[in-house]
Amino acid sequence: MKDYFIFFNNKFVRQSEATLPVLSASSQFGLNVFEGIRVYKEDSFYIFRLEDHLKRLNNSLSRIGFDTKVISTEKFIEILKELILLNDLNTDFSIRFTYLIDEIDSWSSNKSPVYFIAPFIRERNSSDTYKTMVLSDTRRISSLAMDPKIKCGANYINGRYALIEAKSKGADLPILKNKDNYISESTGACVFIVKQEDVITPSLDCDILESITRDTVIKIFQKNNYKVEERRISEDEFVESDEIFLCGSTAEITPIKPIKKRNFKIGDLTKFIFQEYQLAITARSYKNYAWTTKINFGKRS
Ligand code: PMP
Repeated sequence: MKDYFIFFNNKFVRQSEATLPVLSASSQFGLNVFEGIRVYKEDSFYIFRLEDHLKRLNNSLSRIGFDTKVISTEKFIEILKELILLNDLNTDFSIRFTYLIDEIDSWSSNKSPVYFIAPFIRERNSSDTYKTMVLSDTRRISSLAMDPKIKCGANYINGRYALIEAKSKGADLPILKNKDNYISESTGACVFIVKQEDVITPSLDCDILESITRDTVIKIFQKNNYKVEERRISEDEFVESDEIFLCGSTAEITPIKPIKKRNFKIGDLTKFIFQEYQLAITARSYKNYAWTTKINFGKRS
């Protein structure tokens, strides 16, 4: 990966120069909270659902016990503009925005966190690719133990175990069930199924992250007069789905091959949401939802 400039601990530095003590709580225990935010390049750069990401990060900061509030939207945009210029970015990219502890301390650290904002190139999904999946034996972490609604680095180790299992079974990705045996989510993405014309997704009580893309998808379907159900999905119902797709800031819309389908073709509603999502992220449609923040460079652009 290219050694991009990032903003770390109040300075613009090369990624390779941004270091942490190995015995910091973040290095040892995955003690951090973060967001993955997409920026799309059209006539200008468009940040997708920035306010919602900052809101969720604020919530994660408070739930993990960090005594800091997230920086303002204005400050974030100023830093981002400088990163675009310093790195000479001219295409779609992603941002990792992370609060962590950069001092030697234990997992119970009550030190104040620092943050970094780091861009890296990531292009949009193409419409004809899909992934295979297995229903993993590894269960999604329970909100009673480690709340999946907090976007904390350590929570991702649960996804790592499930991914190792999925790969060992020859699939690209796992779909995890929760402690009560209902479908929960995948690693880094929420899941939707289609049965005839109905769109169904696990409800928020199924140990899932409150995904911003899931909300976007629900709103797009509803706007187009599709019925969307948020409820518990059993394994039997999941296995009988006509279509399955994942969604997330990184996953965007990712079609999934249902287990029983032999001659698999990406389904109509998956194609539909894929296309509509592309229109939403670039502000070509769904403008009244105000999901995108256009970056204006003034005279310099
Ligand atoms: N679930 C998990 C576990 C995730 O890490 C992500 C990615 N942030 C998602 C779902 C999708 O969330 P969002 O749409 O907000 O990116």
